[in-house]
Amino acid sequence: MAINVSPEQQGADSVQKCRIIVVIDPGHGDHNDKTSGVDPGALGGPNMEFKEKDIVLDVAKVFKQKLEAKTDVIEAVYLTREGDVGSGELKKLQWRLDFANEKKAPILVSLHMNSACKCPRNAKGQCIVPKGGHIVDTTANGKEVWCYPGKAQSKSLATSIMAAFTLPLKRRGQTGVFEREFRVIKIEGTIKASALIEMGFIPNENDRTQVINNKSALADQFTEGVVNYIIANRAALCGDDAGTVKLPDNPPLPRPRPKDL
Ligand SMILES: [Zn+2]
Repeated sequence: MAINVSPEQQGADSVQKCRIIVVIDPGHGDHNDKTSGVDPGALGGPNMEFKEKDIVLDVAKVFKQKLEAKTDVIEAVYLTREGDVGSGELKKLQWRLDFANEKKAPILVSLHMNSACKCPRNAKGQCIVPKGGHIVDTTANGKEVWCYPGKAQSKSLATSIMAAFTLPLKRRGQTGVFEREFRVIKIEGTIKASALIEMGFIPNENDRTQVINNKSALADQFTEGVVNYIIANRAALCGDDAGTVKLPDNPPLPRPRPKDL
């Protein structure tokens, strides 16, 4: 018996089956134009032996594996870096966005650890480092998720990640979700939603220890946040732009072999 399927139903099925490409960006670890060395990101520990670039990379690698396992919604997951990047070549934040566009990813998640200083700040909120160096505030603590201002899909992604981010650290502010024009989470090209996760403050011993001891749990939580976001926003993500992969509604039937004819 033939089953009639309306074009609307076919469209809905196509959205139901569409799977998403995600780029995970472990922050830092690239060449810094100020020092020409590898940018370690924020530092923590008695001898500043813990580097943001290493912790975020460890979490990113597990996050990638866990997300890849969600094959009903995920097409592919890529890391912007698998180690330190470059050999003297200058790398800038734009390179991370270009990478996501090359992979045709509609979602980009950038992983970071936070740091605060006791120094005075300039109008942009940046630390004015006094002579003799940066004075790190080891008491600042908490988790945050950031999105680009005025982007509804990014706000939904950030909110979904924060809802799943249950590591028992203080959630900063009322919701833990903030907006700022960070370059790396700009919406451009194939990117439809992006978020920057500050997993905790690396100079703070409790935050740092919780993150280091719970890398796999964190990867589970971020996976849950991203997957829940995709399920709730499939129609917006699975438009006709690049960056999504639609499975065929009706896979072609196998060609009959000669002896079956
Ligand atoms: Zn960072």
